[in-house]
Amino acid sequence: MIDFSLSEEQKRILMMARDFATNEIKPVTIEFDKEGTYPEEILKKAHKLGLMYTNIPKEYGGSGFSYLEHYIVTEALNYEGPSIAQMIGISHLSMAPIQIGGTEEQKKKFIGTMTKSYRSGCFCLTEPEAGSDAAVMQTVAEKKGNDYVINGTKRFITNGKYADLLCLFATIDRTLGTKGICCFAVPRSTPGIEVVKVEDKMGHRALNVAELKFNDVELSEENLIGQEGQGFKLA
Ligand SMILES: Cc1cc2nc3c(=O)[nH]c(=O)nc-3n(C[C@H](O)[C@H](O)[C@H](O)COP(=O)(O)OP(=O)(O)OC[C@H]3O[C@@H](n4cnc5c(N)ncnc54)[C@H](O)[C@@H]3O)c2cc1C
Repeated sequence: MIDFSLSEEQKRILMMARDFATNEIKPVTIEFDKEGTYPEEILKKAHKLGLMYTNIPKEYGGSGFSYLEHYIVTEALNYEGPSIAQMIGISHLSMAPIQIGGTEEQKKKFIGTMTKSYRSGCFCLTEPEAGSDAAVMQTVAEKKGNDYVINGTKRFITNGKYADLLCLFATIDRTLGTKGICCFAVPRSTPGIEVVKVEDKMGHRALNVAELKFNDVELSEENLIGQEGQGFKLA
């Protein structure tokens, strides 16, 4: 018979996540959702305890948990306050394309730098005119030699105001449809990234969701994740 019981280490991780949710998230979750508060101190503590980058391997600064351990933490944190829990766990979605498509060098450089901080990453796909059908995106990556210049707007970006590392999708040629879309790893410090607004949502308000504008953002080949045209698959 298959044994579904947790190992001693998994039980320890579960208790740590439950304690954190009970002591840190539960007492403030209603207030933070009412006020739309960025849970900065909670993020710092989660980062310190290794509850933030649970699915990222140790060599890139994460906790290196298995999927089971990762979801043990995710479930326990979300139980007491999903807005705050999703701010803690946003790298699970946002960094997946870089983890899948990036070279060792890119993962060490971009993810390895991001995991040093509690501000995490964000996933920049949706646009004002490209939601369910992301393939019609208008954000362009204009090729200049081996470099790219990005212009466009991304909407509804979770952690968009605060993320240290942006996983950004843009097209090199709109006529190519999905085959023109590229994925880029973009550090926040890159000039030209503007936070246009933070969404004033009806609920889930401690979850930061922002609109970002990219104004002549200059990237090089080392920011490109995978090959040109592979971005749609990576997203
Ligand atoms: C809280 C929150 C966080 C988010 N975080 C992120 C993020 O981090 N990064 C990111 O890139 N995006 C993010 N999004 C955006 C999300 O992925 C989009 O909202 C989603 O893709 C839908 O796009 P849209 O809102 O433009 O709706 P639309 O695409 O305009 O859809 C509106 C409605 O029309 C329906 N519809 C659309 N097309 C069809 C069709 N062909 N036939 C029938 N019905 C159709 C849809 O099902 C939906 O009910 C977030 C959204 C929310 C609400």
